[in-house]
Amino acid sequence: MDFSFSSEEALFKESVSRLMERLVGGGRWAEIDESGVIPWDVVREMGRQGLFAIPVPEDLGGPGGSWLMAALALEEIGRSDPSMGLAVFTLLNNAWPFILARHGDSEVSGEVLEALSRGEAFYGIASTEPSGGSDVAGIKTRAEAGDGYYKVVGEKILISGVREALEQAEIGGWTLLARTGSGGHRGLTAFAFIPKRNGRVEAEGLEYEILDTIGRKAISTGILRLEGVEIPKKNVLGGEGRGFYVAMEGFTLARILVAAANVGAASWALEKAVEWARERRLFGGRPIASFQGVSFPLAEAYVELEAARTLVYRTAWTADRFYRGEASREQLNMLSAASKIKAVETAFKVFETAMKTLGGISFVKETNIYRGLLGSLSYLVGAEGAQNIMRYIVARDLIGRDYVKHG
Ligand SMILES: Cc1cc2nc3c(=O)[nH]c(=O)nc-3n(C[C@H](O)[C@H](O)[C@H](O)COP(=O)(O)OP(=O)(O)OC[C@H]3O[C@@H](n4cnc5c(N)ncnc54)[C@H](O)[C@@H]3O)c2cc1C
Repeated sequence: MDFSFSSEEALFKESVSRLMERLVGGGRWAEIDESGVIPWDVVREMGRQGLFAIPVPEDLGGPGGSWLMAALALEEIGRSDPSMGLAVFTLLNNAWPFILARHGDSEVSGEVLEALSRGEAFYGIASTEPSGGSDVAGIKTRAEAGDGYYKVVGEKILISGVREALEQAEIGGWTLLARTGSGGHRGLTAFAFIPKRNGRVEAEGLEYEILDTIGRKAISTGILRLEGVEIPKKNVLGGEGRGFYVAMEGFTLARILVAAANVGAASWALEKAVEWARERRLFGGRPIASFQGVSFPLAEAYVELEAARTLVYRTAWTADRFYRGEASREQLNMLSAASKIKAVETAFKVFETAMKTLGGISFVKETNIYRGLLGSLSYLVGAEGAQNIMRYIVARDLIGRDYVKHG
């Protein structure tokens, strides 16, 4: 075993760190979170610097990076913007364009990838419905086949990137899951739903709404209402009836990057807490770090965070091996779900520890740690799959499908 990065990986990680410091350092990240809007100049620069669609292979029109490189980028972006708005934007624009390129028509994916490389696109996932996100096989949105297109009727809720895709990007859309067949997971089809093209929304029957969320405010979360929206047949991903599998592959990959972003953001919080514990002096001028009640929780945070980081790296490395045919899908699914459990739950605890270390002042907005707490909370409550569903995936592969059922 070799726990070091290649020189290319190490250099890439360092260059992302420097770039993000330039773009959102000096507290700009918190101003962005407060404003509730991603500044598109930052997105353009991130695109030009190759931070989107990183793992898409060259033969599919991408830059040909690796999942490990994508995870390293997300770790640094999470550390630079612990509110995680930019990290969420970036991780979606890595995992889902990969799925588009792998399972979609090359003309459709080519257009999106080209715009992503200029930082002029948003491409995410639209799966969740008001009736519940965990039960993907129960999706109700319907797609009826017509002549050269599908007509889609349904509603998607809690969808990331609604404003970014429909108002800010030149090209914007999602992998959208809809029912083309009978009940259950085999009746689902995935579509490249790209309502925004050439800077215009061209989708009759589409309405949207932005929700007022409590955290990671730079990226919007919203509702898509589709009343007979037409999606061309060439936009089907992976074939009719294969949507469930296409989406699960995307979620598995996205979760690795979610975990990486959480590790990065929590690393920032731990650094802040350590700094404070050294400097804050009480009881006759002693640094609070000299009290075990303060230093031990920080030591525990370090232990948990390093365990999470190692698991995330191993999972990203396994994703690269999976696409080279060297690891099984089950291995990757299990590790990805385990990474999301460990990294998100650890990050939330690290933010809590950091806030307790700072004491009452952490409750004042200016200290900004709460922004990270809310960012990781978004993943604790459900984004990119509920934590219980992650436990189900791990248990299913650990114990066996015949024993573990969640439906
Ligand atoms: C900020 C944010 C951004 C999001 N962005 C997107 C996006 O871009 N695209 C998208 O499609 N979705 C998105 N989501 C939605 C997310 O995927 C869902 O929140 C998630 O899948 C859970 O669905 P739900 O919230 O409807 O909860 P439910 O599915 O209603 O679950 C509620 C609770 O019940 C538990 N539960 C459900 N079933 C079981 C079971 N069988 N066993 C044990 N426990 C169970 C869950 O763990 C959860 O705690 C986002 C969510 C958030 C918070």
